[in-house]
Amino acid sequence: MKKRALVAGAGGFIGGHLAKKLLGMGYEVRAVDKKPLTKWYQIQDDCDNLVLDLNGKENCYTAVNGYYEVFNLAADMGGMGFIENNKADCMLSVLINTHLLMAARDLGVTRFFYASSACVYNGDKQTDVNNPGLKEADAYPALAEDGYGWEKLFSERMCRHFTEDFGIITRVARFHNVYGPFGTYDGGREKAPAAMCRKVIEAELYGKDEIVIWGDGEQTRSFMYIDECVEGILKIMYSNIQEPISLGSDEMVSINQLVDYVEDIAGYKLKRSYDLGAPKGVRGRNSDNTLIKEYLNWAPSYPLRDGMKKTYDWIKEQMISDEK
Ligand code: NAD
Repeated sequence: MKKRALVAGAGGFIGGHLAKKLLGMGYEVRAVDKKPLTKWYQIQDDCDNLVLDLNGKENCYTAVNGYYEVFNLAADMGGMGFIENNKADCMLSVLINTHLLMAARDLGVTRFFYASSACVYNGDKQTDVNNPGLKEADAYPALAEDGYGWEKLFSERMCRHFTEDFGIITRVARFHNVYGPFGTYDGGREKAPAAMCRKVIEAELYGKDEIVIWGDGEQTRSFMYIDECVEGILKIMYSNIQEPISLGSDEMVSINQLVDYVEDIAGYKLKRSYDLGAPKGVRGRNSDNTLIKEYLNWAPSYPLRDGMKKTYDWIKEQMISDEK
């Protein structure tokens, strides 16, 4: 019999890629998102595509009914510009995971995946640009990213207690930044890689000669290519890893280096201006992949430069076709 999986948040970036992958692996997939279908980044005709607001308990029961594995990728989220200015909305995503877990418990779900974030890690461990890499233990004592990070940490614990009290197998991955084609690149929710591509392409298409960078550009991050994110989700879902685990690249770069890559791909150099008042998040963040390598003998390794080329090409294609 075919495996039946629900992908919550399938109209979004990671959920869209995951639904496609599962379908290709022979699963029967139900894809759910609150956005109208016309706004989904990817739609697979062979999925059972449903538009439902998963904040509501009844909608979660409708979504889960008849499906025995759940991947929860649904959340009200975005890049730093969004999460710093929409903390209540970010925290309300707690309803999605809570109601999905309750439906999972009551409807016989066997495995449940929750997408957490590196934003759960203690801010005091991220004050230096030379971040040595965050270990899983660095989430406690808790000082998560205000709003968004606290919701993730609470929902992680909800998964743990549903396992302890009701026996549902839950798996939690803390994603570091994910990037790639079929994601947000404008509108205010986009993250740094897509935003930098868009800004350079705008300059190319409209003859601008300056790029605005949030902060001084020396803040550091690591970025994981989408295909490796999906691969990691599946490896973690079907592993025996019972604790939340980081899923991210450990190729750390500054935002200035990220812009260097994009300019190099575009073959276009811009003047840089720095908006020091803009949202910029923690000073330095990287992933320590010791634990995931121990468990899975695997960690994301796709070079950022190569992934950025694919992302840049896709965003440019979209922007040119939006123009027409
Ligand atoms: P995304 O915004 O592209 O996708 C999330 C989807 O969830 C959206 O399509 C949105 O419409 C949907 N959604 C929001 N509220 C909903 C609701 N009430 N009911 C139904 N659907 C709802 O984001 P993404 O980048 O694909 O992220 C997926 C998951 O991974 C999220 O939980 C996010 O917090 C987590 N995450 C992402 C990153 C990243 O870099 N992209 C990093 C860390 C964690």
